[in-house]
Order: sequence, then C-alpha cells, then structure tokens
Amino acid sequence: MNVAVVGTGYVGLVVGACLAETGNDVVCADVNRDKIELLNNGIIPIHEPGLDALVARNEAAGRLTFTTDVGGAVTRSEVVFIAVGTPPDEDGSADLQHVLAVADTIGQHMTGPKVVITKSTVPVGTAAMVRDRIAQHTEETFAVCSNPEFLKEGSAVNDFMKPDRVIVGVDSDRAREVLTELYEPYIRTGNPLIFMDIASAELTKYAANAMLATRISFMNQIAELCERVGADIRLVRKGIGSDPRIGPAFLFPGPGYGGSCFPKDVRALLRTADDHEMPLGLLEAVERVNARQKRRMFHKLAQALGEVTGRTIAVWGLAFKAETDDMRESPAIELIEDILEHGGTVRAFDPVAAGNARRVFGDRIVYATDPYDATEGADALAIVTEWLAFRNPDFGRIAGALKRPIIVDGRNLYRPERMAELGFTYRCIGVPD
Ligand code: NAD
Repeated sequence: MNVAVVGTGYVGLVVGACLAETGNDVVCADVNRDKIELLNNGIIPIHEPGLDALVARNEAAGRLTFTTDVGGAVTRSEVVFIAVGTPPDEDGSADLQHVLAVADTIGQHMTGPKVVITKSTVPVGTAAMVRDRIAQHTEETFAVCSNPEFLKEGSAVNDFMKPDRVIVGVDSDRAREVLTELYEPYIRTGNPLIFMDIASAELTKYAANAMLATRISFMNQIAELCERVGADIRLVRKGIGSDPRIGPAFLFPGPGYGGSCFPKDVRALLRTADDHEMPLGLLEAVERVNARQKRRMFHKLAQALGEVTGRTIAVWGLAFKAETDDMRESPAIELIEDILEHGGTVRAFDPVAAGNARRVFGDRIVYATDPYDATEGADALAIVTEWLAFRNPDFGRIAGALKRPIIVDGRNLYRPERMAELGFTYRCIGVPD
C-alpha cells in the first residue's frame, strides 16, 4: 500500500519504518527541514532501540523515503497517517493546530480517494473536525478514522511490531478494510485488532494513559506512607502485585511520571471533562501528587546534605525514563532547577540525553563524560533515570570520587541493606531510613 505518515517524530518515524518493514511503500513527511535532512543523510534524530537498523534496511530497499513536501506525500498515497504533535495549550487542552494544518494540506492535495488516520493523541471530536477541514477543500471521497498509538518510547519498535492490541475507531467499511489489511501482519499471534466507534477510540487512548498515571501516583503516595509508618514499599508492591486483579506491572514508585504523554494527556482529559462540566477529581489528585513527587527528590537530597547551597550534586540520568533521549517533562528538570535555584551546582550524566538536556539547561550544568566523571568531587549522587548501566556500578569508585558517600536514588536501584554495609547514606523511595 502507498502510505504517507505526516509528522516524523517519535511516533511518525517508528510507525513509518515499521509499516515499510511489512512491504508498504512509505513516505514520511515533516515540516522540520533539519530533521528531514538528517534522515536523508542516514542520521536518526532520536534514540530508539532498533530504529536505526530498521530505517536503514527499508530505505535501502526503496520502501521508505523522507520529504518536506507534505502535499506531494499526500497526493501519492492512498492512506495518510496524521502523527504530528498535540502539545498542551495554555489551558491544558490538546493544541490541535498542527493536526488541523495537516488536514488542510490533505484536503488541498487530494487527487483521489483516501483513508486518513489520526494517529496523534487527540480529544473526542477531533476526527470529525479533521473530516470537516478536509471537506472544505475537496470533492474527492475520503474516510477519516482514529487509530491511537500505544507504543512506549524505549521499546517503540517492538511495541509496534508486536502490539498488545490495536485500537481503531471507524465509521466506514472502506476504513475498516484498509486498517485490517495494514495491521494484519502485526497481529498474527492473536493479539486483537479492536474496532469501535471513533469517539470511543479517541477516548481509549486518554483513558489508558490516565489509568497508568493513576497507578504511578497511587504507588508514590503509598511509598511515602511507607516511609512515615516504617513499612517497605518493595514488599508492599510484591504483596499487592501478586493479586491478579492488580497485577505486577507498573507498580514501581519513582521520581514522578514525565515524558511527552502522561502529563499532557492527563491535563487534556481534565480539560475535556471540564468542558462537559464534569470535575474529574481523581485525576486532579493524580496530577497534584505527581507535581509533589517531582519535588521530593530534592527534599530528600537537601535533608541528607543539610545544605544544598555551595554543594555539587552528581545527577545520573536526564531522560524521563531509560532507553530514550526524550527529556520532555522529565523529573530531572525539576530536580536540577531546584538544585540550581538553591545555589548548588550539577554534574550530570546520561548515556543519550545530553544533547536534549543542553537545550533545557545550556551551560548552567556540567555534562559529564561518564557516570564516574559526574561523581568526581561531588557532595552527593542523585539517580533519576533507571538506565541499566547504573544498576551495578563500581561502588568503591563512587565512594572514592564523592566528597561524602550520599546517594539519593529515585528509582530504588540498590538494596538499602547493602548500601549501608558499603558505608553509604542511601535514601530511596518508600523505604524508611
Ligand atoms: P514529536 O514532537 O516527536 O513529533 C511531531 C512531529 O510533527 C515533529 O517532527 C514536527 O515537526 C511535525 N509536524 C508538526 N506540524 C506539522 C505539519 N503541519 N506537517 C508535517 N509535520 C508536522 O511528537 P511525538 O512524540 O511523535 O507525538 C506525536 C503524537 O503521538 C502526539 O499526539 C503524541 O501524544 C502521540 N503519542 C506519542 C507517543 C510517544 O511516546 N512519543 C506515544 C503514543 C502517542
């Protein structure tokens, strides 16, 4: 099938490359010239495991191309995915300007029937708005459907190739047929392709992210309570996770959720509910708990150090989670800003996110060349991202490099008992001191 993917970011690039992998002829289009130039020079602008090889292989086979000519990409394709960003507007609602700009471009470049698929995370009613915008420019027949994306950064290629489920909101047989054909190669092991009405598909994406964010905030609050009452979140987690109604996944406490999806999607869902005069008190609390959680690491650090002013803190991990270079709404941002505001200095290390971190902090922090370089002469070490390389470090080297053996761990990577034996003051989440 001839497919255009408009918006070549974390989602669009993965979707385009994975669709090419199963034999489709895919063009990825983006208005960002720098990004397309990088891609045309064989450079992948994001860190995503397995993506480089996938893109290279499909480009070499002639099934995957990149362009800034969005209109041209639309004209030559029977299927058009809209995968542009939907950042939060000032009031928290999803800003649809990019989605609707693409709808205009599609309408202006229709020379035959098409199936248009909204892949971006968009509020209920957006597919209808896209349909209206396209129809303002053309008499051609087209279908619009909603196909929200559930890939996780860090395992995006695998998630797309082997999805837990594929959700499609349709109101036409043509769209149902095309989406079935496109997705059949990825659901051969029996994971479901679930068709539903468009509004339900649009809401499913927000409901899924809101549920996951709720789990995180819930566990973070129980973890704090553990610290107060002398219980251990590691045991409580195991205890509740073995109940099949709860399940073990997504029960780890941490420095608060970040990334490009949970914070903005929770806010957008709150806004949607507000527009329908329905307060979503539960999600308001989830958001409040998360904002507070993002500040807790700094408080733990300040407590362990006594004083942050004039101190140097080594920070391990800048990305919002492991295996990605995405820093959008990363808890590292709050922590580092708090340290700087209180007169401390930061020596940070992340295996892949330093480039994006420079856009956030510029020269206000030192970018270390490796984890141990970050700890050199620092007064304490704070761990924000759960990179594998941080899980079994040389503690002797860390103790030798730090001025004081203090570790504040937002990811509970180490056993407190062992850290005490090694002579560290070790503070983690949900385990009493
Ligand atoms: P991104 O910011 O990485 O990429 C968006 C791209 O769209 C950018 O490259 C931008 O230049 C391009 N763009 C903007 N306007 C355009 C236009 N008019 N024409 C062509 N290109 C245009 O965003 P992302 O993380 O890939 O997210 C895209 C959407 O997918 C969002 O709605 C997001 O909520 C959703 N989503 C993201 C993830 C994720 O993990 N990142 C997962 C599931 C869903």
